[in-house]
Amino acid sequence: MMGLEPLEKQLSTYLTADQVNWVRRAFFYAEQAHDGQKRRSGEAYVTHPLAVAHILADMRMDHQSLMAALLHDVIEDTLIAKEALANQFGATVAELVDGVSKLNQMRFESKAQAQAENFQKMAIAMARDIRVILVKLGDRLHNMRTLDVLPGEKRHRIAQETLEIYAPIANRLGMHSMFMEFEDLAFKAMYPMRSERIQAAVRKARGNRKELIGTIQTALLQRLAREGIEAQVLGREKHLFSIYKKMRAKRRSFSEIMDVFGFRVVVDKVDTCYRALGAVHGLYKPVPGRFKDYIAIPKANNYQSLHTTLFGAHGVPIEIQIRTQVMDELACFGIAAHWLYKSSEEEPRHASQERASRWVKSILELQQRAASSLEFIENVKIDLFPDEVYVFTPKGRIMELPRGSTAVDFAYAVHTDVGNRCIACRINRRMAPLSEPLQSGCTVEIITASGARPNPAWLGFVVSGKARTHIRHSLKQQQRSESVALGQRLLDKILTEQNTSLESLPTTAMTTVLKEYKLSEWDDLLEEIGLGNRMSYVVAQALLGNMLSNQSSSSTPESLAIRGTEGLVLSYAKCCMPIPGDSIVGYVSAGQGVVVHRDSCPNVLTLRNQPEKCIALSWAKDVVGDFSVALRIALNQQRGQVALLCASVHTSGGNIEQVAMEVLDGQTSMVQLTIRVEDRAHLARVIKRLRALKEVLRISRVRL
Ligand code: MN
Repeated sequence: MMGLEPLEKQLSTYLTADQVNWVRRAFFYAEQAHDGQKRRSGEAYVTHPLAVAHILADMRMDHQSLMAALLHDVIEDTLIAKEALANQFGATVAELVDGVSKLNQMRFESKAQAQAENFQKMAIAMARDIRVILVKLGDRLHNMRTLDVLPGEKRHRIAQETLEIYAPIANRLGMHSMFMEFEDLAFKAMYPMRSERIQAAVRKARGNRKELIGTIQTALLQRLAREGIEAQVLGREKHLFSIYKKMRAKRRSFSEIMDVFGFRVVVDKVDTCYRALGAVHGLYKPVPGRFKDYIAIPKANNYQSLHTTLFGAHGVPIEIQIRTQVMDELACFGIAAHWLYKSSEEEPRHASQERASRWVKSILELQQRAASSLEFIENVKIDLFPDEVYVFTPKGRIMELPRGSTAVDFAYAVHTDVGNRCIACRINRRMAPLSEPLQSGCTVEIITASGARPNPAWLGFVVSGKARTHIRHSLKQQQRSESVALGQRLLDKILTEQNTSLESLPTTAMTTVLKEYKLSEWDDLLEEIGLGNRMSYVVAQALLGNMLSNQSSSSTPESLAIRGTEGLVLSYAKCCMPIPGDSIVGYVSAGQGVVVHRDSCPNVLTLRNQPEKCIALSWAKDVVGDFSVALRIALNQQRGQVALLCASVHTSGGNIEQVAMEVLDGQTSMVQLTIRVEDRAHLARVIKRLRALKEVLRISRVRL
């Protein structure tokens, strides 16, 4: 079994004795936690986290990452909680381990390219601390290296996931060595025959070319030395999977691809790169159009190098990369190289901080953000995708939404119909408010009901343009049909009072009125009436011409029956909160339709000054829904009294909307309770139950 000593030895070359000691403690902790657990290979489980730590040590990662690597499976595979780790090793290490565990719980299934990309982004977004990703990559790399012991199907699945998710993440973070190893290991696992055939061919070709490679290498070194340039010249091999991809994508034969000789020239500084370029161009003729300056214009993942292709002796193409030592490390380790610089003494800490921060920004194509990202080194906690959240549908599809999105935004992103008919949601399988902002990685399920409609209150919390537009549109349509219906009823009512009806009027009367009002459709007129923009009385007068009789004012006008289903064009006054059973009166308010007041509401007295705007109302027999009503309750002060009140309201079937409390004096407090009830009879039952409480002194229904 692999012991701890080699790791300690390696770590002591770049960490302090104290830091190495912490890593040692983490190892013993993990060893004990995994005691008795075995890997599929039969080895003690702890060999796996130890191997992951080795991978991170090769990248010279900091001691907290090393500790997290050793502990990375502890939360998931043993009974130890995050808090316990935090107590032992500090909050940062516990967060790192927890982050890795969360990533492990994400199951990637879809094979679509866009989904894979979103999944990569989600993984990075969820991690918050980029070191979580680095530990996870190390974990995956060791699992890939030991993939042989797994059964075929599982092996294939893990290899595929590596190819689609983890290799691109490594590439995105500029970790080229790891990226290549991921691809080759996955290739071998998924296509063992093809991988082996290419490998054998490479071995053979290498043997044949050995002499030629040596000749070119010597020629390059001599030429550079003649120009006074000190450089390392290394032969470059393509990795197996990239050969395979090239053969497939470009339909080239193996020998065509292998017939290119690759070399890397590593020098001390940028200046020297360009001098070296001149030197090799002096040695062999460059192929026109193949020179690329990625030093002046780095690639998206911040890769820097000069690339050129030369005609070698006998016309053999030679590809050359020229870069500095620092660029070379960046090209291999990518983001991990940042920790490498941290320990180097040649440059001031400040400069490396800034460069690392800039680098992270640029590789992820981030927009310029506030100075906060300069805190990178202190916390290494950065939000790499500050503007998005990534969530799952119940079927495992990933949706990208703007940050702050709620279940309603999600519903509209899935489909307009889902949004319009949405009534509730489950987040990670538990019921949650529709207004709750979603977190990356959660699974969202929308519950719909046919006939359900968007709620105007949603406009208060949705963040996506799509949701906003569709809600507005739908509300508008809804308002149109509701106001047309109400307008129809209001007009019918007044015509009935005149002992006539629309049907008995000549059609010319209607067209004349429409023309007069400059409206194109009859429904437009009804909508205007329903919205309260035109008075039904006035419209009726226009329709009937002089025929409008004054008789009706003497007889009691027929009242309009309220069913509770009128929707947006009918609202209940906040001042008196009418409920079924109360005698009521309607007030037509421009743009809002009808507002229902209690007959006894003091505001109604003022409204009666405009009798043409008042309509007689009554409750329909089949009125539906529940209605808000406010109670004022004087209480004896006691602990838990409000909870008692609420419980009592609930047992009598009322729903509490709002509770406000003020203390009147030492003994008494006043609670204002807004509840929803069906009607007066229901309210009476609620009040009766409340009165039965011994703490309750007085109850009254609030009127203005
Ligand atoms: Mn693991």
